[in-house]
Amino acid sequence: MILKNTLVTRNSFNNLILPFYNPSYFIPVKGQGSRVWDQKGKEYIDFSGGIAVTSLGHCHPILNQVLNYQSKKIWHTSNIFTNEPALRLAEKLVLSSFASYVFFANSGAEANEAAFKLSRYYATKKYHLKKNKIISFYNSFHGRTFFTVSVGGQSKYSDFFGPKPLGIQHAEFNKIETVRNIIDQNTCAIVLELIQGEGGIVPASKSFVKELRILCDKYNALLIFDEVQTGIGRTGKLFAYEHYEVKPDILTIAKSLGGGFPISAMLTTTKIKSVITPGIHGTTYGGNPLACAVAEATIDIINTKDVLSGIKKKLKRIIFELNIINKRFQLFTEIRGMGLLIGIVVESKFIKKINDILHASFLEGVIFLTAGNNVIRMAPSLIITESDIVEGMNRFYCALKKTL
Ligand SMILES: *Cc1c(COP(=O)(O)O)cnc(C)c1O
Repeated sequence: MILKNTLVTRNSFNNLILPFYNPSYFIPVKGQGSRVWDQKGKEYIDFSGGIAVTSLGHCHPILNQVLNYQSKKIWHTSNIFTNEPALRLAEKLVLSSFASYVFFANSGAEANEAAFKLSRYYATKKYHLKKNKIISFYNSFHGRTFFTVSVGGQSKYSDFFGPKPLGIQHAEFNKIETVRNIIDQNTCAIVLELIQGEGGIVPASKSFVKELRILCDKYNALLIFDEVQTGIGRTGKLFAYEHYEVKPDILTIAKSLGGGFPISAMLTTTKIKSVITPGIHGTTYGGNPLACAVAEATIDIINTKDVLSGIKKKLKRIIFELNIINKRFQLFTEIRGMGLLIGIVVESKFIKKINDILHASFLEGVIFLTAGNNVIRMAPSLIITESDIVEGMNRFYCALKKTL
């Protein structure tokens, strides 16, 4: 038996899978570039990118080739050995960032978990045991492990799971005085998303990030950028922090890094590396050769002038098309974000209709995401073609005509 072709449907979901999710009515079975097909052969234009993950579209031929090649060499070694793809990928990350050292994990939450643990370990080893306070921001999202939901700024994700870790404080995003009010010598780290993703595509202001850097330096706290959603090309630069002229002490990446293969990384400096010894943290799969080989190829393709500078042009085209749509429907008040992480801020009178709009869009053959409670989010392939953009927007127009 190689592949058994029993028919599974969306209805099977309710009988088999724990309802932590409420997936759409159709099941994608094939993808190519920015298009996916469902079980019935219906085709969709994908502006969701698997939630900012499939940064080179679906089944990119080079990624397929690399995955295939590596799958015939070696799949898994564990961390009792190192491996060639991990070392090559680490070198690429170090050469193209502020960082000197890399830790690999498997998901955004795990990279953040490592970052939070490391910031506490560093501060309590280097300064004093009470220096363990982490400051994060309301509406932030850092993953679903218990530490990361507790640091995250939406208590609905951490309530009813028993006692939460202590030493976590929340301040208001883009309001520096709310940070000044709570930071002190016991603060070990400030963590933020440069663009709050799940929270509604809200970019941090340049002055806010600069002030955070100054505060961190003053109080010997580490500045952590969670670039799980913004990293590896999404904003038009390899890392979003390059737009801000501020360097972090620790940075996490995941989503776009593997182009669809699960992998994440935490990047940091020589100074912070100094407290690390074997055994204080780890993971079985982190730095898996298959994942690292795919991620290496993903970076090779994205970190080129061609792809990165192309993002601006694609954004311009999307905004152009959205503005035409808005002339007809007055759907949104603002387009937010950076590069191809796009938030369409919906008019208050249409907020209740967002789910209907998404559903109608599926029916017309175009896929969007939401973010926060009033934003339609787009995070398409960084190499989406102009004709896919135009076709997708036409379908969006038809969907709106039927819903509004
Ligand atoms: C998606 C996301 C995470 C969590 O990543 P997982 O891979 O789902 O664990 C963390 N931080 C940010 C900013 C994200 O967008």
